[in-house]
Amino acid sequence: MTKHLLIGQTLSYSGNPFSSAWEEVSHHSSRGAVLIDGDTIAAVGEADDLRCAHPDVPVTDYGDALITAGFVDAHMHYPQTGIIASWGKQLIDWLNTYTFPEESRFHDLAYAEEVAGRTLDLALAHGTTTLTSFCTIHPESVDAFFGAATARGMAVVAGKTCMDRNAPDTLRDTAQSAYDDSKRLLEKWHGVGRNTYAITPRFSPTSTPEQLEALGALWAKHPDCLMQTHLSEQLPEIEWVKSLFPECRDYLDTYERFGLLGKGGLYGHAIHLTEREIARLSEVGASVVHCPTSNTFIGSGLFDLMGLAQSTIRIGLATDTGGGSNFSMLRTMATAYEIAQLRGVAVHPSQLMWLATEGSASALHMSGQIGHLGIGAKADITVIDLASTPVITQRSARANDIWDALFPTIMMGDDRAIRDVWVAGRAV
Ligand SMILES: [Zn+2]
Repeated sequence: MTKHLLIGQTLSYSGNPFSSAWEEVSHHSSRGAVLIDGDTIAAVGEADDLRCAHPDVPVTDYGDALITAGFVDAHMHYPQTGIIASWGKQLIDWLNTYTFPEESRFHDLAYAEEVAGRTLDLALAHGTTTLTSFCTIHPESVDAFFGAATARGMAVVAGKTCMDRNAPDTLRDTAQSAYDDSKRLLEKWHGVGRNTYAITPRFSPTSTPEQLEALGALWAKHPDCLMQTHLSEQLPEIEWVKSLFPECRDYLDTYERFGLLGKGGLYGHAIHLTEREIARLSEVGASVVHCPTSNTFIGSGLFDLMGLAQSTIRIGLATDTGGGSNFSMLRTMATAYEIAQLRGVAVHPSQLMWLATEGSASALHMSGQIGHLGIGAKADITVIDLASTPVITQRSARANDIWDALFPTIMMGDDRAIRDVWVAGRAV
């Protein structure tokens, strides 16, 4: 196995800075190093120590740049890459005007492969080494995405989006075909290489009770798969769900009733939750995924990050592109900060960085494997230039510590701040 030593500033975590004091669980070295052995991180420590212990290993010295775990995007829609930043709609109109016409094109494998490859390359250019994506109803869209990720060595989560009502004819499957196609695709891709399959009903308005029940039965037979969907994003959506499922107690109940509430469930947005929904998500140890740039762009509302962080719900961070307006997890952290400010709380940069790496990995039940700068994790690593533009450089020059140096890049940085990216021990 080939070894490689990366030297620079390093940032790693030994715990959750929302439930423990961030000073105790975040670890910074101004002259640290990461030893890569094959596709895995073999050591993290001080540069001088690791250099002495491994004198013959090739070194890449990044100087003052910050070496962190690669960013983990816990919810996005790769088929919407081409329509990112489309103007003027809220959720339901957004889907009908922009999303559904574009998603209708993904029966074409060549088109799906082109967009999948472009999306993964854009993610890597922004320092994101894992994507969790919805595909379209077309099995071709799933094959294209897992194929493109495999070619790049990336760990990804994805699944065939299932919709059998309230969508155009070109984007409707049935309860039976959703079950059969999802089963075939998860048997083909789940656990193969770095691929994880997520059973994927888009959201309860576009699935009949029969389809939700079929997917719940499929998940019961394959409980090691994840399940991803959307939950309580916008108030008019919640009213619509109530009218479609009058017998359900709340939005979450439309999943719970059909076997789609569980520990491996990833619920995107989760902004307007009831007490019962929070209690149930906590009880089962499910994950909610915060998509801040999407929430402001589509006008959805203010996610209660600090409130939910007090519960046992796992919280991931995500771009939700193309409803989200940016591929950058830096920009995503910045908007998470701004939304929390509108709720009266200043989230610390250590907490923001944790969410974008360790938090998302925990939401995906992959703690210690990805999003982690520590021994035994896959060597998915992002190197951040803390002086990537003139305005950031003049601000970070007067920083007193790493957090003061990093925060301007979180707030104002983009893909220009990504100095280098390593995927499974290979520089890309
Ligand atoms: Zn979404």
